[in-house]
Amino acid sequence: MVYYAGVDLGATNLRAAVADDDGTTIGVSRNATPRGPTGIDVTEGVLRTLREACGDAGIEPESIDAAGIGSIGPFDLAEGAVIDPANLPDSIDRIPLTGPIEKLIDSEEVHLHNDTTAGVIGERFHADRNPADMVYITISSGIGAGVCCDGEILDGWDGNAGEVGHTVVDPRGRLTCGCGHDGHWEAYCSGNAIPDFVRLLAEDDPTIDTDLPLEDPDFTAKDVFEFAGEDELADYAIDQLAHWNAIGVSNVIHSFAPIVVSFGGAVALHNEDLVVDRIRQRVSEMVMANVPEIRVTDHGDDVVLEGALASAMTEGTGDRSRFKR
Ligand SMILES: [Zn+2]
Repeated sequence: MVYYAGVDLGATNLRAAVADDDGTTIGVSRNATPRGPTGIDVTEGVLRTLREACGDAGIEPESIDAAGIGSIGPFDLAEGAVIDPANLPDSIDRIPLTGPIEKLIDSEEVHLHNDTTAGVIGERFHADRNPADMVYITISSGIGAGVCCDGEILDGWDGNAGEVGHTVVDPRGRLTCGCGHDGHWEAYCSGNAIPDFVRLLAEDDPTIDTDLPLEDPDFTAKDVFEFAGEDELADYAIDQLAHWNAIGVSNVIHSFAPIVVSFGGAVALHNEDLVVDRIRQRVSEMVMANVPEIRVTDHGDDVVLEGALASAMTEGTGDRSRFKR
């Protein structure tokens, strides 16, 4: 019997799944991502979660043939570690992943990817339409892409390809990104950034009516979407978000010529009509090359975990023809 494992290491949640030889999930486990104090504590949390998933599946960790990991970055890919992750406490400087998991499962078949790359691997493996050219884009607390081009999953130097949320969409750089630079796509359109973008729009045109709680420290992106259709500023903001998102997505399309663009991440998943449908409408007017099919992942919040499992099954490619059994 052949078994596979997938791990989704996010800034908030840590999940693992075990699948049998035809890819059916037979064990899962979920924990909060340890907040340190050190990176080793996070590594131990990953190993514990993987052991629990094996326990749930009724197998020993050593029976696993291959594992895939979809993780927050950035990476030292040669060392198989996460280095200085932005959304975890500063005391966490290095999270070793590949080596400790190889040891746990007694196999050298461990594939580490950033979470959006795991997303495109999962989409390529599972989607009904899975061409050799496809892109997965997450719009969540951040924005990023996983790219499959000519059948190759693009990892880039140290596994950091696809950081499209840090491309500049505003040359005036009016908002500063979490990374410290100005004018980045993610600084306007990510879930974390939307409240500041809406405040900026309100300052630019104080004549726009609104009941949005702009001054409330608890004002979130969710409020903006909930006020859709009932509030002039919310509607204007959703329209502007669509425009800026469409610029970002068009840049990705012109860069990689995908046939399918698949969206995930909480902002896209929870607001398909207000976010994804509007990107689709605008992109067709912005793209000079082939306009790809624009869709939402069928896997919801599981897309990274499913991608990590698919990576284990296909040696990191998501190419179904390489599914080993
Ligand atoms: Zn940035």
